[in-house]
Amino acid sequence: MADLEGKMVLISGPSGAGKSTICRRLVQDPRVEFSVSATTRKPRAGEVDGRDYHFLSPQEFRAKTAAGEFIEQAEVHGNMYGTLRAPMERAIAEGRVYLLEIDVQGANQIKAQQIPGLFLFIAPPDAETLRKRLVGRGTDAPEVVERRLAKAEDELRERVKYDHVIVNDDVERALAEVRALIGLDG
Ligand code: ADP
Ligand code: 5GP
Repeated sequence: MADLEGKMVLISGPSGAGKSTICRRLVQDPRVEFSVSATTRKPRAGEVDGRDYHFLSPQEFRAKTAAGEFIEQAEVHGNMYGTLRAPMERAIAEGRVYLLEIDVQGANQIKAQQIPGLFLFIAPPDAETLRKRLVGRGTDAPEVVERRLAKAEDELRERVKYDHVIVNDDVERALAEVRALIGLDG
């Protein structure tokens, strides 16, 4: 396993594109650390506080904002999400690949701060597949699925701002492409 320089890898894409699936596989590599975001969204079945997200009340989230603890934050699908600054700075200084799975608004904020890193966009093969995956995931109420699909088109337009667009047709193929781009092979 080759040594890597510490770096930020940021992954965006529409809800249901397969970002979490790919991130869960990437963090099986000990050189990769996942950025656990804070959110005011309620946990889904199977999600663990501190592993998938730091689940906060709106008051707790506001307090962290006021304290300057977020490197970026955004409202997504009606909930607040934010990336904590301290763990990111520590992981990169310690030479790890720090993986952010955040939305396009957050990615724009990170870019504006000229934080160096690799910006990856995970795209679904087509709109129908995206719908099937979101419904098939079975974690969101029908109106939530519709809200996420409605936003997907806007999000897809943002893909030109990223370093690479990876079409998640087959998980293994997409994962291999992402691993190669990060430099995890070898
Ligand atoms: P996101 O994190 O982008 O919202 P998920 O990783 O939760 O998306 O994926 C949405 C659903 O699609 C999940 O049920 C997941 O198992 C499934 N999925 C992800 N990638 C693929 C793929 N390449 N082929 C088929 N199903 C997939
Ligand atoms: P979900 O609720 O499905 O886990 O995530 C919804 C959206 O919020 C996804 O697009 C995800 O990438 C984004 N997201 C998750 N964490 C953060 C974060 O810390 N900041 C921003 N800006 N978006 C985030």
